[in-house]
Amino acid sequence: RVVLGIETSCDETGAAVLDETGTILGESLHSQKEVHLKTGGIVPPVAQRLHEENIGRVVQEALDRSGVTPRELDAVATTVKPGLALSLGVGLRFSLSFVRQHEKPFIPIHHMEAHALTIRMLQNVEFPFLVLLVSGGHSLLALARGVDDFLLLGRTLDEAPGDTLDKVARRLSLVKHPRCRGLSGGQAIELLAKEGDRLQFRFKPPMGQNYDCNFSFAGVRNQVTMAIHKKEKQEGVEPGQLLSCVQDIAAAAQHTVASHIAKRTHRAILFCKTRDLLPQNNPNLVVSGGVASNEYIRETLRIVTDATGLRLLCPPAEFCTDNGVMIAWNGVERLREGKGIVSHTQEVTYEPKAPLGRDISTDVRDAS
Ligand code: ATP
Ligand code: FE
Ligand code: MG
Repeated sequence: RVVLGIETSCDETGAAVLDETGTILGESLHSQKEVHLKTGGIVPPVAQRLHEENIGRVVQEALDRSGVTPRELDAVATTVKPGLALSLGVGLRFSLSFVRQHEKPFIPIHHMEAHALTIRMLQNVEFPFLVLLVSGGHSLLALARGVDDFLLLGRTLDEAPGDTLDKVARRLSLVKHPRCRGLSGGQAIELLAKEGDRLQFRFKPPMGQNYDCNFSFAGVRNQVTMAIHKKEKQEGVEPGQLLSCVQDIAAAAQHTVASHIAKRTHRAILFCKTRDLLPQNNPNLVVSGGVASNEYIRETLRIVTDATGLRLLCPPAEFCTDNGVMIAWNGVERLREGKGIVSHTQEVTYEPKAPLGRDISTDVRDAS
Protein backbone atom coordinates (compact mmCIF):
# COMPACT_ATOMS: atom_id res chain seq x y z
CA ARG A 1 0.00 0.00 0.00
CA VAL A 2 1.20 3.47 -0.93
CA VAL A 3 0.02 6.81 0.44
CA LEU A 4 0.62 10.38 -0.73
CA GLY A 5 0.73 12.88 2.15
CA ILE A 6 0.25 16.63 1.78
CA GLU A 7 0.94 19.31 4.40
CA THR A 8 0.12 23.04 4.16
CA SER A 9 -1.20 23.92 7.63
CA CYS A 10 1.30 26.66 8.41
CA ASP A 11 4.34 27.84 6.48
CA GLU A 12 5.66 24.57 5.04
CA THR A 13 4.45 23.09 1.75
CA GLY A 14 5.28 19.41 2.04
CA ALA A 15 4.49 16.22 0.17
CA ALA A 16 5.69 12.64 0.49
CA VAL A 17 4.97 9.17 -0.83
CA LEU A 18 5.29 6.36 1.74
CA ASP A 19 4.74 2.65 1.65
CA GLU A 20 3.07 0.86 4.52
CA THR A 21 6.32 -0.02 6.28
CA GLY A 22 7.08 3.70 6.54
CA THR A 23 9.74 3.71 3.86
CA ILE A 24 9.89 7.14 2.26
CA LEU A 25 9.68 6.52 -1.48
CA GLY A 26 9.83 10.19 -2.41
CA GLU A 27 9.42 13.55 -0.73
CA SER A 28 9.62 17.28 -1.30
CA LEU A 29 9.46 20.24 1.06
CA HIS A 30 9.27 23.97 0.45
CA SER A 31 9.71 26.21 3.47
CA GLN A 32 8.47 29.80 3.58
CA LYS A 33 10.47 30.49 6.74
CA GLU A 34 12.87 32.99 5.13
CA VAL A 35 10.06 35.11 3.71
CA HIS A 36 8.24 35.22 7.05
CA LEU A 37 11.45 35.96 8.93
CA LYS A 38 11.69 39.23 6.97
CA THR A 39 8.17 40.35 7.95
CA GLY A 40 8.73 39.29 11.55
CA GLY A 41 5.93 36.73 11.48
CA ILE A 42 3.57 34.89 9.18
CA VAL A 43 1.26 37.06 7.09
CA PRO A 44 -1.55 34.59 6.20
CA PRO A 45 -2.34 35.89 2.68
CA VAL A 46 1.38 35.72 1.85
CA ALA A 47 1.54 32.15 3.19
CA GLN A 48 -1.49 31.29 1.07
CA ARG A 49 0.05 32.71 -2.09
CA LEU A 50 3.32 30.85 -1.50
CA HIS A 51 1.48 27.57 -0.88
CA GLU A 52 -0.47 28.11 -4.11
CA GLU A 53 2.72 28.83 -6.04
CA ASN A 54 4.52 25.74 -4.74
CA ILE A 55 2.02 22.98 -4.04
CA GLY A 56 1.77 21.66 -7.61
CA ARG A 57 5.53 21.41 -8.00
CA VAL A 58 6.09 19.96 -4.51
CA VAL A 59 3.53 17.17 -5.02
CA GLN A 60 4.85 16.42 -8.51
CA GLU A 61 8.42 16.27 -7.18
CA ALA A 62 7.47 13.84 -4.41
CA LEU A 63 5.69 11.63 -6.95
CA ASP A 64 8.54 11.81 -9.49
CA ARG A 65 11.16 10.94 -6.89
CA SER A 66 9.10 7.97 -5.71
CA GLY A 67 8.53 6.62 -9.20
CA VAL A 68 4.92 6.00 -8.15
CA THR A 69 2.15 7.11 -10.52
CA PRO A 70 -1.10 8.61 -9.23
CA ARG A 71 -2.84 5.44 -10.44
CA GLU A 72 -0.71 3.32 -8.09
CA LEU A 73 -1.58 5.35 -4.97
CA ASP A 74 -3.92 3.74 -2.45
CA ALA A 75 -4.93 6.98 -0.76
CA VAL A 76 -4.16 10.67 -0.37
CA ALA A 77 -3.80 12.05 3.19
CA THR A 78 -3.86 15.80 3.80
CA THR A 79 -3.74 18.05 6.86
CA VAL A 80 -7.18 19.63 7.34
CA LYS A 81 -6.83 20.80 10.99
CA PRO A 82 -5.65 22.72 12.97
CA GLY A 83 -3.76 25.55 11.30
CA LEU A 84 -4.07 28.79 9.39
CA ALA A 85 -7.37 28.84 7.50
CA LEU A 86 -5.85 30.29 4.34
CA SER A 87 -2.99 27.77 4.36
CA LEU A 88 -5.16 24.73 5.12
CA GLY A 89 -7.50 25.77 2.30
CA VAL A 90 -4.77 25.51 -0.34
CA GLY A 91 -3.82 21.94 0.62
CA LEU A 92 -7.42 20.81 0.89
CA ARG A 93 -8.54 22.30 -2.44
CA PHE A 94 -5.52 20.85 -4.22
CA SER A 95 -6.04 17.42 -2.62
CA LEU A 96 -9.76 17.26 -3.36
CA SER A 97 -9.25 18.02 -7.02
CA PHE A 98 -6.41 15.46 -7.11
CA VAL A 99 -8.47 12.67 -5.51
CA ARG A 100 -11.46 13.42 -7.75
CA GLN A 101 -9.34 13.41 -10.86
CA HIS A 102 -7.60 10.14 -9.95
CA GLU A 103 -10.54 8.59 -8.04
CA LYS A 104 -8.62 7.96 -4.82
CA PRO A 105 -9.81 7.60 -1.22
CA PHE A 106 -9.11 10.70 0.88
CA ILE A 107 -7.88 10.73 4.48
CA PRO A 108 -8.22 14.05 6.35
CA ILE A 109 -5.39 14.44 8.87
CA HIS A 110 -5.11 16.20 12.24
CA HIS A 111 -1.71 17.93 12.21
CA MET A 112 -0.99 17.26 15.90
CA GLU A 113 -1.99 13.60 15.62
CA ALA A 114 0.56 13.34 12.81
CA HIS A 115 3.28 14.91 14.98
CA ALA A 116 2.41 12.45 17.77
CA LEU A 117 2.51 9.34 15.57
CA THR A 118 5.69 10.12 13.60
CA ILE A 119 7.85 8.21 16.10
CA ARG A 120 6.03 4.97 15.15
CA MET A 121 7.32 5.34 11.61
CA LEU A 122 10.89 5.35 12.96
CA GLN A 123 10.79 2.73 15.68
CA ASN A 124 8.51 0.25 17.34
CA VAL A 125 6.48 2.21 19.90
CA GLU A 126 3.30 0.60 21.19
CA PHE A 127 0.20 2.40 22.45
CA PRO A 128 -0.40 3.82 24.98
CA PHE A 129 2.34 6.40 25.32
CA LEU A 130 2.59 9.90 26.68
CA VAL A 131 3.30 12.63 24.15
CA LEU A 132 4.54 16.19 24.56
CA LEU A 133 4.24 18.45 21.50
CA VAL A 134 6.01 21.79 21.69
CA SER A 135 6.30 24.00 18.62
CA GLY A 136 5.77 27.50 17.30
CA GLY A 137 2.01 27.09 17.29
CA HIS A 138 1.33 24.47 19.95
CA SER A 139 2.06 23.19 23.40
CA LEU A 140 0.23 20.12 24.61
CA LEU A 141 0.48 16.94 26.63
CA ALA A 142 -1.62 13.98 25.59
CA LEU A 143 -1.96 10.26 26.13
CA ALA A 144 -1.91 8.44 22.81
CA ARG A 145 -4.04 5.29 23.19
CA GLY A 146 -4.54 4.49 19.53
CA VAL A 147 -4.24 5.94 16.05
CA ASP A 148 -7.38 8.07 16.54
CA ASP A 149 -7.70 7.80 20.31
CA PHE A 150 -6.10 10.59 22.34
CA LEU A 151 -6.70 12.01 25.82
CA LEU A 152 -5.70 15.65 26.07
CA LEU A 153 -4.09 16.20 29.49
CA GLY A 154 -3.08 19.82 29.07
CA ARG A 155 -2.39 22.58 26.58
CA THR A 156 -1.18 26.14 26.53
CA LEU A 157 -3.58 28.76 27.84
CA ASP A 158 -1.91 31.57 25.92
CA GLU A 159 1.00 31.12 23.50
CA ALA A 160 3.30 28.29 22.46
CA PRO A 161 6.94 28.07 23.66
CA GLY A 162 8.37 28.42 20.13
CA ASP A 163 6.33 31.58 19.67
CA THR A 164 7.68 32.92 22.98
CA LEU A 165 11.28 32.20 22.00
CA ASP A 166 10.71 33.70 18.53
CA LYS A 167 9.31 36.90 20.09
CA VAL A 168 12.20 37.19 22.55
CA ALA A 169 14.67 36.65 19.71
CA ARG A 170 12.95 39.33 17.66
CA ARG A 171 12.99 41.75 20.60
CA LEU A 172 16.75 41.16 20.86
CA SER A 173 17.18 41.59 17.07
CA LEU A 174 18.88 38.21 16.89
CA VAL A 175 18.12 37.90 13.15
CA LYS A 176 20.80 40.54 12.66
CA HIS A 177 23.23 38.87 15.05
CA PRO A 178 26.21 37.73 12.95
CA ARG A 179 26.09 34.19 14.35
CA CYS A 180 22.34 33.76 14.10
CA ARG A 181 21.77 34.34 10.37
CA GLY A 182 19.17 32.02 8.96
CA LEU A 183 18.33 30.53 12.35
CA SER A 184 14.83 30.45 13.82
CA GLY A 185 14.30 32.39 17.04
CA GLY A 186 14.45 29.23 19.11
CA GLN A 187 17.66 28.06 17.47
CA ALA A 188 19.27 31.49 17.95
CA ILE A 189 18.36 31.47 21.66
CA GLU A 190 19.73 27.95 22.09
CA LEU A 191 23.02 28.90 20.41
CA LEU A 192 23.58 32.08 22.42
CA ALA A 193 22.38 30.51 25.68
CA LYS A 194 25.32 28.10 25.55
CA GLU A 195 27.62 31.03 26.35
CA GLY A 196 25.32 32.68 28.86
CA ASP A 197 24.98 32.58 32.63
CA ARG A 198 21.31 31.97 33.35
CA LEU A 199 21.71 33.01 36.98
CA GLN A 200 22.28 36.62 35.93
CA PHE A 201 18.51 36.93 35.42
CA ARG A 202 15.66 35.49 37.44
CA PHE A 203 12.31 34.93 35.80
CA LYS A 204 9.43 33.64 37.86
CA PRO A 205 8.25 30.22 36.68
CA PRO A 206 4.65 30.35 35.36
CA MET A 207 1.61 28.88 37.11
CA GLY A 208 3.37 28.02 40.33
CA GLN A 209 0.01 27.60 42.07
CA ASN A 210 -1.71 25.37 39.52
CA TYR A 211 -1.09 21.66 39.70
CA ASP A 212 -2.55 20.75 36.36
CA CYS A 213 -0.85 20.06 33.03
CA ASN A 214 -1.68 23.29 31.25
CA PHE A 215 1.03 25.67 30.08
CA SER A 216 1.46 29.42 30.05
CA PHE A 217 4.33 31.23 28.38
CA ALA A 218 3.07 34.80 27.91
CA GLY A 219 4.15 35.72 31.45
CA VAL A 220 7.69 34.51 30.78
CA ARG A 221 7.81 36.63 27.65
CA ASN A 222 6.58 39.70 29.58
CA GLN A 223 9.24 39.29 32.25
CA VAL A 224 11.99 38.78 29.69
CA THR A 225 10.82 41.81 27.68
CA MET A 226 10.82 43.95 30.82
CA ALA A 227 14.33 42.80 31.72
CA ILE A 228 15.54 43.66 28.20
CA HIS A 229 13.91 47.09 28.42
CA LYS A 230 15.54 47.76 31.79
CA LYS A 231 18.98 46.74 30.53
CA GLU A 232 18.62 48.89 27.41
CA LYS A 233 17.87 51.90 29.60
CA GLN A 234 20.81 51.15 31.89
CA GLU A 235 23.17 50.86 28.94
CA GLY A 236 21.63 53.81 27.12
CA VAL A 237 21.02 51.91 23.86
CA GLU A 238 18.09 51.91 21.43
CA PRO A 239 15.50 49.08 21.63
CA GLY A 240 16.95 45.92 20.11
CA GLN A 241 20.52 47.19 20.24
CA LEU A 242 21.59 45.42 23.41
CA LEU A 243 24.95 43.71 23.03
CA SER A 244 26.05 42.88 26.55
CA CYS A 245 24.20 40.16 28.45
CA VAL A 246 22.19 38.94 25.44
CA GLN A 247 23.62 35.49 26.11
CA ASP A 248 22.61 35.64 29.78
CA ILE A 249 19.07 36.68 28.87
CA ALA A 250 18.85 33.87 26.31
CA ALA A 251 20.09 31.34 28.89
CA ALA A 252 17.66 32.49 31.58
CA ALA A 253 14.68 32.60 29.19
CA GLN A 254 15.49 29.15 27.82
CA HIS A 255 15.87 27.76 31.35
CA THR A 256 12.50 29.16 32.47
CA VAL A 257 10.74 27.72 29.42
CA ALA A 258 12.51 24.36 29.87
CA SER A 259 11.70 24.00 33.54
CA HIS A 260 8.04 24.93 32.99
CA ILE A 261 7.72 22.30 30.27
CA ALA A 262 9.49 19.73 32.47
CA LYS A 263 7.28 20.42 35.50
CA ARG A 264 4.06 20.07 33.52
CA THR A 265 5.36 16.86 31.97
CA HIS A 266 6.26 15.51 35.40
CA ARG A 267 2.71 16.25 36.53
CA ALA A 268 1.29 14.41 33.50
CA ILE A 269 3.47 11.38 34.22
CA LEU A 270 2.34 11.25 37.85
CA PHE A 271 -1.32 11.57 36.80
CA CYS A 272 -0.98 8.74 34.28
CA LYS A 273 0.78 6.57 36.84
CA THR A 274 -1.83 7.02 39.56
CA ARG A 275 -4.60 6.26 37.02
CA ASP A 276 -2.67 3.31 35.63
CA LEU A 277 -2.84 4.79 32.14
CA LEU A 278 0.71 3.86 31.10
CA PRO A 279 2.07 0.34 30.61
CA GLN A 280 4.06 -1.15 33.51
CA ASN A 281 6.84 -2.22 31.18
CA ASN A 282 8.84 0.37 29.25
CA PRO A 283 6.48 3.35 29.43
CA ASN A 284 7.40 6.01 26.88
CA LEU A 285 7.40 9.79 26.67
CA VAL A 286 7.46 10.93 23.04
CA VAL A 287 8.55 14.53 22.49
CA SER A 288 8.15 16.31 19.18
CA GLY A 289 7.58 19.70 17.51
CA GLY A 290 10.21 22.28 16.55
CA VAL A 291 11.03 23.18 20.17
CA ALA A 292 11.80 19.52 20.93
CA SER A 293 15.03 19.83 18.96
CA ASN A 294 16.37 22.08 21.74
CA GLU A 295 19.08 20.10 23.57
CA TYR A 296 18.72 22.00 26.83
CA ILE A 297 14.97 21.34 26.93
CA ARG A 298 15.56 17.68 26.14
CA GLU A 299 18.15 17.34 28.91
CA THR A 300 15.74 18.98 31.37
CA LEU A 301 13.06 16.50 30.32
CA ARG A 302 15.52 13.66 30.72
CA ILE A 303 15.85 14.49 34.42
CA VAL A 304 12.09 13.96 34.71
CA THR A 305 11.95 10.74 32.69
CA ASP A 306 14.98 9.29 34.52
CA ALA A 307 13.33 10.03 37.87
CA THR A 308 10.01 8.44 36.85
CA GLY A 309 11.31 5.49 34.84
CA LEU A 310 10.06 6.55 31.42
CA ARG A 311 11.97 6.26 28.19
CA LEU A 312 12.40 9.59 26.39
CA LEU A 313 11.90 9.29 22.64
CA CYS A 314 12.39 12.12 20.21
CA PRO A 315 12.41 11.91 16.41
CA PRO A 316 15.43 13.49 14.67
CA ALA A 317 15.06 17.24 14.02
CA GLU A 318 13.85 16.90 10.42
CA PHE A 319 10.87 14.84 11.62
CA CYS A 320 10.12 17.17 14.56
CA THR A 321 9.16 20.05 12.28
CA ASP A 322 6.43 20.15 9.66
CA ASN A 323 6.71 17.97 6.57
CA GLY A 324 4.69 15.81 4.21
CA VAL A 325 6.21 12.58 5.51
CA MET A 326 4.43 12.65 8.86
CA ILE A 327 1.10 13.30 7.12
CA ALA A 328 1.62 10.37 4.76
CA TRP A 329 2.57 8.17 7.75
CA ASN A 330 -0.62 9.16 9.56
CA GLY A 331 -2.45 8.19 6.37
CA VAL A 332 -0.71 4.80 6.40
CA GLU A 333 -1.72 4.22 10.03
CA ARG A 334 -5.33 5.17 9.35
CA LEU A 335 -5.53 3.18 6.13
CA ARG A 336 -4.21 0.11 7.96
CA GLU A 337 -6.99 0.37 10.53
CA GLY A 338 -9.65 1.60 8.11
CA LYS A 339 -10.20 4.75 10.17
CA GLY A 340 -11.34 8.11 8.85
CA ILE A 341 -11.22 7.29 5.16
CA VAL A 342 -13.57 9.52 3.21
CA SER A 343 -15.21 8.77 -0.10
CA HIS A 344 -17.78 11.60 -0.22
CA THR A 345 -15.09 14.23 -0.50
CA GLN A 346 -17.52 17.08 -1.09
CA GLU A 347 -18.25 17.01 2.65
CA VAL A 348 -14.66 17.59 3.78
CA THR A 349 -13.82 21.00 5.22
CA TYR A 350 -10.84 22.39 7.08
CA GLU A 351 -10.91 23.45 10.76
CA PRO A 352 -8.44 26.12 11.91
CA LYS A 353 -9.02 25.17 15.55
CA ALA A 354 -9.35 21.54 16.60
CA PRO A 355 -8.40 19.94 19.94
CA LEU A 356 -6.45 16.68 19.87
CA GLY A 357 -8.70 13.99 21.32
CA ARG A 358 -10.87 14.14 24.45
CA ASP A 359 -9.96 16.99 26.80
CA ILE A 360 -9.53 15.66 30.36
CA SER A 361 -7.48 18.61 31.66
CA THR A 362 -10.02 19.36 34.41
CA ASP A 363 -9.73 15.76 35.70
CA VAL A 364 -5.99 16.28 35.91
CA ARG A 365 -6.44 19.49 37.87
CA ASP A 366 -9.00 17.95 40.24
CA ALA A 367 -6.76 14.94 40.88
CA SER A 368 -4.09 17.10 42.48
P1 ATP B 1 3.06 24.17 14.41
O1 ATP B 1 3.76 22.93 14.00
O2 ATP B 1 2.59 24.14 15.81
O3 ATP B 1 2.00 24.58 13.47
P2 ATP B 1 5.41 25.68 13.66
O4 ATP B 1 5.29 25.33 12.25
O5 ATP B 1 5.81 27.07 13.98
O6 ATP B 1 4.08 25.39 14.45
P3 ATP B 1 7.61 23.88 13.90
O7 ATP B 1 7.88 24.08 12.44
O8 ATP B 1 7.41 22.51 14.40
O9 ATP B 1 6.40 24.73 14.39
O10 ATP B 1 8.79 24.54 14.73
C1 ATP B 1 9.16 25.89 14.62
C2 ATP B 1 9.30 26.47 16.02
O11 ATP B 1 10.27 25.74 16.76
C3 ATP B 1 9.76 27.91 16.00
O12 ATP B 1 9.03 28.65 16.94
C4 ATP B 1 11.23 27.81 16.41
O13 ATP B 1 11.72 28.96 17.08
C5 ATP B 1 11.22 26.62 17.32
N1 ATP B 1 12.53 25.97 17.37
C6 ATP B 1 13.22 25.40 16.36
N2 ATP B 1 14.42 24.96 16.77
C7 ATP B 1 14.49 25.24 18.09
C8 ATP B 1 15.48 25.04 19.10
N3 ATP B 1 16.63 24.46 18.83
N4 ATP B 1 15.19 25.48 20.34
C9 ATP B 1 14.03 26.07 20.62
N5 ATP B 1 13.07 26.30 19.73
C10 ATP B 1 13.29 25.89 18.48
FE1 FE C 1 3.69 21.33 13.21
MG1 MG D 1 5.77 25.10 10.53
